[in-house]
Amino acid sequence: MSQPGLPSGRTPWCSMGMSDPTDAELVHRYRPHLLAEQAELTKAGRESGIDRKPVVLDQQSVGRLSRMDAMQGQAMAKAVQVRRDGRGRAIEAALARMQDGEFGWCDSCGDFIGLGRLDLDPTLVRCRDCAG
Ligand SMILES: [Zn+2]
Repeated sequence: MSQPGLPSGRTPWCSMGMSDPTDAELVHRYRPHLLAEQAELTKAGRESGIDRKPVVLDQQSVGRLSRMDAMQGQAMAKAVQVRRDGRGRAIEAALARMQDGEFGWCDSCGDFIGLGRLDLDPTLVRCRDCAG
């Protein structure tokens, strides 16, 4: 089972008998990943911009099938962009929580969300109990 998001080879906090990490430790651990993913999203959004231009229905030069292809491709590109926008907002929110010292703490109960969960997705705002 591979863990997406973070490079391997990190020492689990629990193996060192540590309690909850401090805000500074959390920021140190996750901020670079959030920033990197944010940069990726921005780049991907820019590169796909050309695909999101309105489909021009040109009866002369484009056949029916290729028009459908173009519209289908456009719908897909739009769906991808919607997902990307949502992810971008989640990342921005996570970065904002870091500045407020709230990153890593459950929105609902205030408990630590857990490094295992944050490793999978640093934008999570709820602990396992509250997310269910
Ligand atoms: Zn909770």
